[in-house]
This record gives sequence, structure tokens and C-alpha cells, in this order.
Amino acid sequence: MPVSTPVAALRPTELEPAVEALAAQPDLCVLAGGTELMVLANAGRLRPGGFLLIDRIPELRGVWFTEQEVIIGAATTCADLTHPDLRAVLPALAQAARAIGSAALRTRATLGGNLASGKRLGGGPAPLPGRDMLTTLIALGAVAVCRTRHDWRQVPVAGLYARDGGVQLQPGELITAFRLPLGTGQQGFMKIGTRGGPGRPVLTLALVVDPSTRQVACAIGGHGPVPARVDHAGQWLQAHVDWEAGAIPDPGTYQTFARLVAEGLLAPLTAGPAGASTSRIPDEYRRQAAEVCARRALVRALPPSGWLEQVKQYQIKAELMRARSAVERAERGLPQAPPVPGPITGPINVPGLGALGARTDITIPAQGNGGRAQ
Ligand SMILES: Cc1cc2nc3c(=O)[nH]c(=O)nc-3n(C[C@H](O)[C@H](O)[C@H](O)COP(=O)(O)OP(=O)(O)OC[C@H]3O[C@@H](n4cnc5c(N)ncnc54)[C@H](O)[C@@H]3O)c2cc1C
Repeated sequence: MPVSTPVAALRPTELEPAVEALAAQPDLCVLAGGTELMVLANAGRLRPGGFLLIDRIPELRGVWFTEQEVIIGAATTCADLTHPDLRAVLPALAQAARAIGSAALRTRATLGGNLASGKRLGGGPAPLPGRDMLTTLIALGAVAVCRTRHDWRQVPVAGLYARDGGVQLQPGELITAFRLPLGTGQQGFMKIGTRGGPGRPVLTLALVVDPSTRQVACAIGGHGPVPARVDHAGQWLQAHVDWEAGAIPDPGTYQTFARLVAEGLLAPLTAGPAGASTSRIPDEYRRQAAEVCARRALVRALPPSGWLEQVKQYQIKAELMRARSAVERAERGLPQAPPVPGPITGPINVPGLGALGARTDITIPAQGNGGRAQ
């Protein structure tokens, strides 16, 4: 049954009034792109006390480049994430965004909405989540920045979920941004669904290689409530790459890596909301899908030779982006400070994350908003 009674909607243009409103009225339903929520509302499965629209808050939308990080506002759309500038330094993120729904949907669907997808709303069961972006964010070792009226919280993205995949946001809490280590571009994302075009994935896979630290991270999703890192495969690969020459000398490395990734697949967990949709997929099919995706992702990220030059190009591009984005923001009157509480000065607890997760002792230079509203 469609929603028939009018529902109040607030549409603030700044972050402070948004968190104030959420604190005053915790049953307000945060609406970013609305691509999940409006489907539920139209089906009569959603009866919120009101909507808080966050699509007009400039602080929540956009990309900030710092020395070591890229900070992405939670209300940044998937279409924005496919921009060539961002694709140049974080290709796995752009590829994952490009695999969400249709082109029209991507102009509305946001990164924050994707990660908070499946959030329990009021009394009913949680909607089946669509969180394809999460696999990439876990592989990248991303940190979610959350805000309530009085507090900031920074948590590795995997820490946003319970074991059954339920979203663990506190009442009145808003995701404001995601912090991602600045990559060197040696990365990729793959998705296999049950049919062509938009649909729930059988498998998603993200591979992130950082030649500067010689670390490899791979995450697979679609098989359980929350994507998992397959660190044993990444650790094995680290020892089989000639980092000095920028080459993989033994062609058999690709197949072995792919097999190790596939072995990392756990049995589908039908209890969790994300596992339910494709749980009828035979394990053998999913295993093969993982193997094929892992091999292809590795060939693209690290071809047999000659990628040192590519790494240099990525570094030049990242430098250019940093300089240019600050100027463009100033010219266009966009917020200079990202919606984060300031520099991360110590390591953040990253449960279950090794490899790239260890790179969370990042420092953001002065342009962070220096503890504002703490
Ligand atoms: C036709 C169709 C195809 C789709 N295809 C895909 C697909 O291929 N892959 C995929 O992953 N998903 C898919 N989806 C699901 C959905 O569109 C995405 O998950 C989308 O990214 C949700 O983003 P949104 O901004 O529209 O979220 P909304 O609908 O606005 O919100 C979704 C949830 O997130 C919460 N929320 C949003 N922003 C925040 C925030 N900043 N802080 C706290 N909570 C927040 C909302 O309260 C709500 O509970 C599809 C949906 C449709 C209708």
C-alpha cells in the first residue's frame, strides 16, 4: 500500500542543523539518494516519523585529497565516484560504483546510503541490503566517520556491522564521510550476478595492491552478511612479486593466487540479510567465480611486467589532484574542510584487518576541520 498520509521532511543545507534535528527527533529517517528508501515507502513498508534529507548539505558531498588520504563525503553519489579524476587514483572504487544499478540510479544512490543499506527502520524486518561498495571499502582499509550532535566516531567500515550483517549505527548518528588511504591505482573490482545488468551479486571481489608498502589486500563479498578479507592470499602474493622490477616472473602465480582466494570463501551464511538473496547458488559455482575474478583482477592490477611506470603516473596524478582540488573548491565556494573531526593521530583499532588496515595511523594536514564541534 503506498504512503497515503503526508510525512514531514527536513532538508537542511548544513551539517550542524542536520545532527541537531536527528538528536531532537531520533525517529527521523535519514534519506540520502532515496533509491532504497523510496522503494520501501512506495511499498508501504516504511512509516517514519519524518524524513531528514541530506542531499543538499555541501559538507557531505564531494572528495577531498590530502597528503595520504582521500576523504569522500557520505552523500557523494555513485555517479560522482566514477569521475575520471577519482578513477585515476582509486580505480576499484570507480569500478564498484559503475556496477551499481543503472546510470539513472547512480546519479541518486550515494556511498553512505549503500553502506547503510539494510538498516533496520522502525519495527519491521530490515530490508535486504544492497552494499556492493562495501567489498571495495574493506579491501581499501577505509574508515567511516560518524557524527552525533556531541560526538564523532571513527570506525573501520567492517566495524559498522554486527555478525549477522545488521548496521550498527547509534540513535541519531549520521555517517559523514569515509577516509581511504591514497592508492597507487594498482587495484580492481569485479562483480558476478545472477543476470546481466543490475541485480544482487553472486560474488564481488576487490583487489588492492600498494607497491610503496609492498602490501596486497583482497576482499570478497556476496557470499555472507559482510564481505571478508582473504589475507592469506595477499600475504602469499607479496612474496611472489618482484617489486624492484615491477613484475611477476612466474606466470603460475596468477592461478595459485586465484585458488587461494577461492579457498578463502566461507560457506554462505543464510542467516544474515546479505547471504539470503543468493544462498541458492551452488558453492562450486561461487568458488569458480571467485577464482576467475581473482585471476583477472590480478592480471589487470599487476600485469606480468612493466607496471613501475604506471605506478609513477598514478603518483603524479595524485599530486596533481591534491593541488587542483584545493583550488577548484575555493573557486566554486565549496567547503574546504572535509566532514571529519581532524587528524587521526594514533592507530585506530581495526579488528580483523592486517595488511593495508595497518595504514590507519594517518595524519591529515591542517585543512582538516581541526576538532570542530567536538
Ligand atoms: C533498481 C535498483 C537497483 C539496485 N542495484 C544495486 C546494485 O547493483 N548494487 C547495490 O549495492 N545496490 C543496489 N541497489 C540498492 C540501493 O540503490 C543502493 O544501496 C544505494 O547505494 C542506496 O543509496 P541511497 O543514497 O539511495 O540510500 P537511501 O535510500 O537514501 O538510504 C538507504 C539507507 O541508508 C541510510 N542512510 C543513507 N545515508 C546515510 C548516512 N549518511 N548516515 C546514516 N544512514 C544513512 C538511510 O537511512 C537508509 O536506511 C539497487 C536499488 C534499486 C532500486
